[in-house]
Amino acid sequence: MPTTLITGGAGFIGSHLCERFLAEGHHVIAMDNLITGTIDNIDHLRDPRFHFIKHDVTEYMYVCGKVDNILHFASPASPIDYLRMPIQTLKVGSLGTHKSLGLACEKRARYLLASTSEIYGDPLVHPQPESYWGNVNPIGPRGVYDEAKRFAEAMTMAYGRYHGIETRIVRIFNTYGPRMRLDDGRVVPSFIGSVLRNDPITVYGSGTQTRSFCFVTDLVEGICRLLHSAEREPVNIGTEFEMTILGFAELIKQLAGSEAPIVFKPLPVDDPKNRRPDLTKAHTILGYKPSIQLEEGLRKTIEYFRSRQEL
Ligand code: UDP
Repeated sequence: MPTTLITGGAGFIGSHLCERFLAEGHHVIAMDNLITGTIDNIDHLRDPRFHFIKHDVTEYMYVCGKVDNILHFASPASPIDYLRMPIQTLKVGSLGTHKSLGLACEKRARYLLASTSEIYGDPLVHPQPESYWGNVNPIGPRGVYDEAKRFAEAMTMAYGRYHGIETRIVRIFNTYGPRMRLDDGRVVPSFIGSVLRNDPITVYGSGTQTRSFCFVTDLVEGICRLLHSAEREPVNIGTEFEMTILGFAELIKQLAGSEAPIVFKPLPVDDPKNRRPDLTKAHTILGYKPSIQLEEGLRKTIEYFRSRQEL
């Protein structure tokens, strides 16, 4: 039975990964300091093969016994979280990546880094292939996340080259689904929370900026395929279905049967104007193809938030 360690295991994506690897028969260790993750996300995983360790991965980390895979998913991941915790965000992307790579070396484990479309910044190439080096403002407020993840990619490649460990890098595009935090500020929980409370929907800027939204189980499928593949260089995972944020607000209103008004607020600094992954590499190397249509995924997500008490 392989043992898989998932940092950020109590977070949104991390908790779905825990579920998936348990279903594949792995022994799963979730490590999290719970600053943005929550035990609620993993409370249902009552399985003798599942363990939780509360630990800050920027500090020296160790686990007993064999570890076959390490997936480094710990990090604040929403703009308001990393603006609220800029130093912690820089530390988890840099020191946390270093510590978890060190453990991978010690255990001779395969290592997968959660990177992000943010490494492309406000892209000047559209859609974004992995070969694009990006357009990041290193000193802007988003730089704490973007540059930490760029450093994390460099560190991961260096450990692969220098220490000869097996490394993988996934560049994750906008992902949504159950277990996002209602107050994490990202557009999906923000819009759904607004329509369910019958509050106005706040669109930043004119709403002409675009994103491509991927349902979390499709992302997890792509990550598993990448982990088991031989590809050492970064691979984009997401969907190619791109829409404007204003169009997205209208769609959520329609799906929730809401008449909530749309109000406009200033666009945050360095908010990317367009984002869509070029998935050619994921299709070709991994046979990856997302299967959940946006409306289906949003219905499931709306249902999840409806069932929550904290609305
Ligand atoms: N956005 C918005 N209203 C909100 C939250 C976000 O209009 O309440 C916009 C945001 O400015 C960005 C897009 O939605 O253009 C996606 O934002 P999110 O924070 O989800 O992720 P990003 O892709 O910017 O990292």
